[in-house]
Amino acid sequence: MSDLISAIIKKLEEYSVEAVEEVTLVIGDLTNLGEEQMEFAYEIMTRETKLEGSKLTIEHEKINVRCKSCGYSGGVEEIKSDCTCHSVPILSCPKCKGDVIVTAGQSCMVKNIRIVET
Ligand SMILES: [Zn+2]
Repeated sequence: MSDLISAIIKKLEEYSVEAVEEVTLVIGDLTNLGEEQMEFAYEIMTRETKLEGSKLTIEHEKINVRCKSCGYSGGVEEIKSDCTCHSVPILSCPKCKGDVIVTAGQSCMVKNIRIVET
């Protein structure tokens, strides 16, 4: 998360940006980054930077896998946990239980930065 923010700030330094209105991040469900934690961290880490006061929007990326054995491609099964609102993905093929290659869900990237032009 801090790496991501430093990268954004560095990028913004290349342009003459007055202020940033909104930053949209795409976070894969596999990254285990909690939305609330991220918003909190974002607020602290952007203080006294050009990102201060900007809105953080988080979009989730669903986990997608491809099976090495049967060629299945799609989502995975999840174990719903009672004590938290988190569900735990099962990283094996829902059809044949074979090994899978994760094709989506590991992202942690900046999708869009809306700036206030000078
Ligand atoms: Zn399979």
